[in-house]
Amino acid sequence: MINVDRLIFEYPNLRALDEVSFYIPQGSITALVGPNGAGKTTLLRCMAALEQPVSGDIRINNIDVLEHPRECHRIIGYLSDFFGLYDRLTVRQCLHYVARAQGIAEEDCAAAIARVSKGLHITDRLDVLAGTLSRGLRQRVAIAQAIIHSPRVVLLDEPASGLDPEARHELAELFLELQQQGMTLLVSSHILAELEAYSTDMLVLREGKIIEQVTIKAHAHAQDFKLVLASPVENLATLLQQIDKIKLLKNEYNQTVLLQVQGDSLQQHELLKNLLAQNLPVCEFAKITSNLQDTYLETIRHRS
Ligand code: ATP
Repeated sequence: MINVDRLIFEYPNLRALDEVSFYIPQGSITALVGPNGAGKTTLLRCMAALEQPVSGDIRINNIDVLEHPRECHRIIGYLSDFFGLYDRLTVRQCLHYVARAQGIAEEDCAAAIARVSKGLHITDRLDVLAGTLSRGLRQRVAIAQAIIHSPRVVLLDEPASGLDPEARHELAELFLELQQQGMTLLVSSHILAELEAYSTDMLVLREGKIIEQVTIKAHAHAQDFKLVLASPVENLATLLQQIDKIKLLKNEYNQTVLLQVQGDSLQQHELLKNLLAQNLPVCEFAKITSNLQDTYLETIRHRS
């Protein structure tokens, strides 16, 4: 979905992006992380066709961003780290203005406003002046503006900054919803604990170079589970392979296995019931959570 190839960007006295190359698959949520000054904002601005790099290539959904910036704007949503709202407009007017600017027909604007304001929990603020909103509410309105035209790709620069814990949790849920709708997200943030909740991939940038790209979750709605039995079961692999929506990743001595499990917590519960119903002596069935913060710190330390 996103392909960046040997991208170089220079400010007057500084090379901010140095031969940056990466690929982001459709439907993923990629965390863009790195220390202050790594080049995250510059990279997102280049991808949003707001900066002209020295050289390199950026393709989003096969559109050459540098050659066709207008076309690119139609399919991406972008939230800047420092954004402005029209303070003297109401939230509804702000959203209406952006909807029209994004080419949404007048008769479809009300539905688009209702959809995004519901997703961002700002329905009760639609008739309030933007200038009177708190920092967190302004952030929500700005995110609503960024996605009002249902873009295929959403680029968000520090979207959680200024949000309270509850709003950050809701934001994580919104990102997963957007992903379910087929959107591809690239999210820059320093709040690794939150990125962990929804990111499928992580891109680590330092001093203008990509130093790591890792997959955190193979699939947003698949979780890795460790299943441990009290004693080995000879036909364990065959038995597990017959169960729907699970994939056997590793089998140690027919007693400890690693499974990829599709579905939500209810389906995970059903799976556990199924395993017990097969008389498997289950003594442990636990979700394996990758630790994005550890991976990140390890990468940064390793490459110092
Ligand atoms: P942060 O996490 O602090 O937001 P960042 O990873 O987003 O940082 P950028 O804002 O892209 O990093 O900055 C990359 C480098 O480019 C930094 O060294 C920064 O000082 C420099 N830089 C950014 N904007 C400009 C500018 N307008 N003119 C000159 N240098 C700039």
